[in-house]
Amino acid sequence: ADTVVHLGSELGAAQPAEIGGAAVAVIAGPCTVEGRDQVLAVAQAVKDAGAVMLRGGAYKPRTSPYAFQGLGIEGLRLLAEAREIAGLPVVTEIMDVETLPMVLSCADMLQVGARNMQNYPLLRAVGRSGRPVLLKRGFAATVTDLLLAAEYILSEGNPNVVLCERGIRTFDDSARFTLDLHAVPLIKQLSHLPVIVDPSHASGRADRVVPLARAAVAAGADGLIVEVHHAPAFATCDGEQALTPPSFASMMAQVERIAAAL
Ligand code: PEP
Ligand code: MN
Repeated sequence: ADTVVHLGSELGAAQPAEIGGAAVAVIAGPCTVEGRDQVLAVAQAVKDAGAVMLRGGAYKPRTSPYAFQGLGIEGLRLLAEAREIAGLPVVTEIMDVETLPMVLSCADMLQVGARNMQNYPLLRAVGRSGRPVLLKRGFAATVTDLLLAAEYILSEGNPNVVLCERGIRTFDDSARFTLDLHAVPLIKQLSHLPVIVDPSHASGRADRVVPLARAAVAAGADGLIVEVHHAPAFATCDGEQALTPPSFASMMAQVERIAAAL
């Protein structure tokens, strides 16, 4: 049977959410937590537009070690506050086993990012934690690699895994990555796990996020994870691909219409 992952019950306060159920589940929020005003403003905006979960990085896997690495523990604290105030369950990235206890104290769902998809000790640790996991496809990973990475989590006794297609690296450098939409129906055929799409990291450009989001839902994705910022020009990280709250609300209306037509 298809897996439905339930969120929001572990830490209290947040409204319950599910991924893999009848509705398209949209996770949204900033790339990274920058401060209290920012994360609270974006959390409220995405909730008002119909997002069921808040995303935001406290530990960021940056390509350059000289780029902003995230607020760390302070970022986790702000995410926990945003969960209480906006009432949305929170997903945030876990980069290593050492920070797992801290992240577990604030996150309803653990994100394993593309760069860590084959970090097997980390996969086993998040598996043992029992907390729902959002596993993003590595940008040089096949769908089989992704499914076997998920098995590391499942085999530790944690059935709460959501897969995420977020673009792969191809010869075409006109987008940040190339969205592999074919992975969506393929994963639906091969696996019982929910699959969501990240059009933000796939395209890297805000003006292409909405068309890719529409296509992902039309292809049968169980949900989306989308970066939103109230002032993208001033974002610390990934501002070029962030939707503003009004464009996010427009995207939500469009994908709801597509989902209703399926
Ligand atoms: C993210 O979601 O913030 C992120 C870094 O994504 P990915 O691991 O897909 O690059
Ligand atoms: Mn990002």
